[in-house]
Amino acid sequence: AGGGRNFDLQIKLMMIGDTTVGKTSLLLRFADDDFNESVLATIGIDFKIKTMEIDGRRVKLQIWDTAGQERFRTITQAYYRGAMGIFLIYDVTKAKTWENIRNWVANIEANAPQTVNKVLIGNKSDLSAERQLSAAQGQQLAEEYGMKFFECSARTRHNVDAAFVTLARDVVARL
Ligand code: GDP
Ligand code: MG
Repeated sequence: AGGGRNFDLQIKLMMIGDTTVGKTSLLLRFADDDFNESVLATIGIDFKIKTMEIDGRRVKLQIWDTAGQERFRTITQAYYRGAMGIFLIYDVTKAKTWENIRNWVANIEANAPQTVNKVLIGNKSDLSAERQLSAAQGQQLAEEYGMKFFECSARTRHNVDAAFVTLARDVVARL
């Protein structure tokens, strides 16, 4: 034997949600263990690759970020092609971004593969003084759509690995 690819399975995940909720920051924290306070961070990246072991298999995660097109709600079928798992992300300090999760779910139902797994993330849990949404509100919304839910902070890294590992595991489990 020898040679060949260094993974057993490749899965495509996506970061979805309103602008500035922290999609790019969560991805950079997970993939590179990096965080940038600056608004320059709002510039999107295409995707990041991270390989991890899940249930004895080497799984290559290809995780797609948006390049700002979420601002215009122009995320289309072409963009979701091949998506296996989606993070739906809101900002716990902005109620509007939580309300908009319903619109993102509708967008996904209309445009993404029907089998896609979804995990809801309430990001910026470190900003307790500015919080507009309780963890219970996130949990309730997630339950309504049968999603798992995590409150995370890209800034402190709180729950970031747990959210990514959970979505990756759920995808691998149904493949
Ligand atoms: P995106 O538009 O959804 O990709 O959001 P970004 O990742 O560009 O983040 C927007 C802004 O929020 C940036 O200034 C980040 O530094 C900041 N940010 C992202 N995640 C967190 C977090 O968990 N906590 C705090 N305090 N700020 C965050
Ligand atoms: Mg971004």
